[in-house]
Amino acid sequence: MEQLPIFLEVKNRPCLVVGGGRVALRKLNHLLASGASAQVIAPEVIDEIQTLADASKITLSLRAFVDEDLDQASLVIAATDNRTLNRTIAGQAKARKLLVNVADQPEDCNFLMPAIIDRSPVVVAVSTGSASPVLARMIRARLESLVPAGYGRLAELCARYRDRVKARFNDQRDRRRFWDRVLQGGVAERVFSGHLEEADQTMERELAIGITDSGKGEVYLVGAGPGDPDLLTFRALRLLQQADVVVYDRLVAKPILAMVRRDARHIYVGKERNHHAMRQEEINALLASLAKEGHRVLRLKGGDPFIFGRGGEEIDTLAAEGIPFQVVPGITAASGCACYGGIPLTHRDYAQSVTFVTGHLKDGSIDLNWPQLAQPHQTLVFYMGLVGLPVIVAKLMEHGVPRDMPIALVQQGTTHMQKVYVGTLTDILAKVEQDPPEPPTLVIVGQVVKLRDKLAWFSANPDPERGATTPILPGD
Ligand code: SAH
Repeated sequence: MEQLPIFLEVKNRPCLVVGGGRVALRKLNHLLASGASAQVIAPEVIDEIQTLADASKITLSLRAFVDEDLDQASLVIAATDNRTLNRTIAGQAKARKLLVNVADQPEDCNFLMPAIIDRSPVVVAVSTGSASPVLARMIRARLESLVPAGYGRLAELCARYRDRVKARFNDQRDRRRFWDRVLQGGVAERVFSGHLEEADQTMERELAIGITDSGKGEVYLVGAGPGDPDLLTFRALRLLQQADVVVYDRLVAKPILAMVRRDARHIYVGKERNHHAMRQEEINALLASLAKEGHRVLRLKGGDPFIFGRGGEEIDTLAAEGIPFQVVPGITAASGCACYGGIPLTHRDYAQSVTFVTGHLKDGSIDLNWPQLAQPHQTLVFYMGLVGLPVIVAKLMEHGVPRDMPIALVQQGTTHMQKVYVGTLTDILAKVEQDPPEPPTLVIVGQVVKLRDKLAWFSANPDPERGATTPILPGD
């Protein structure tokens, strides 16, 4: 290590910033966030710094730096655009044994300011020893996704309970085991999902139980999005990596399953059309019994669990049995297919509303409010609509939707198998028959489908041979 990483207490201590531009402001903001008493010296400053002075957040002296300015300072930052002046300030500061940092001149610094991830009181600092600030920022960006935003609140909870946990467990090893369980289990999950009161209650329960296994697992009902693993939420990813058992069905994309913790048990529960490997009631019961055995159960669902996902039924059973659970939203197929397919679901001129409906056929018909669906200026999205497509098309026309109404069918949206069929109510069936799509498919009806031709952003490199119905898309 070239330098010693330390966290410095600067609360109410006089810190001097020489310079009044963007770089000075960035460093100043870090000082202020840590409670420093900051003074800025510069003949001129940008508006943001002036605003801080007007709000009495800093002391501002609009003049050139003089050596005496260092008299009161305990830490100095030289951030002027004059390298020689910066060096002189640094030299003076070092002569007085002060801490000094010079922006972009590491050779003049006696301390560096790292890139930080602030989840106060948890702070992660990244330094490349000034080799590459860009690399440090890149590493920071990666860590951002790994350190949930709720870590700060979790650390606060730890601080509140620290003395009680100490009193409860004499043995240091027991204490560590206890904290391990708390920080990776139900308490942490409740904090991350913003349920602070429940987190406290769980903490009380854990304290009462002690270090023996509490025996109670929990269920995470997680939306895995429409296919592209990039569309997972941070929370989904974290739960994927900490679950003991994963219960999934056909809609969950393989690359997403591959991200589940390696040693987790996988249970497939089917859900292929007409090939249910397990009935819904059996799935509900399975989730409950796995949790009762003490497992952290990940129920992974395609898209969003609460949109045609029967998530409501699954948590009904869990709630009835008093099993803790949490539901994590996912990107639903409509959003995924629309964005990756270049079709905005609403548009000021063409559609003021969007309706998600099921196109699932029951006894050859679909029980929907057709007169309402046939109204103009809206977009309709049919889930599970491939088999019933002839019925959907016929019903819409029967209720007065123009025969030339645009319609799109998106096959395996957001994946590398994505394909978009575009037509009108009149010709879509022929197109689909000619080249049968692979499920899952989503049907979008409305004038917004026409925008697909116009939107430059989805066909940056259009191939005239392929035409607008098969543009080059992410995932194509
Ligand atoms: N909960 C899911 C929907 C489950 S219903 C969600 O929020 O997306 C199953 C239907 O979703 C499929 O029949 C299909 O219509 C649609 N679907 C799911 N993923 C899809 C995808 N990647 N591409 C197209 N349609 C998809």
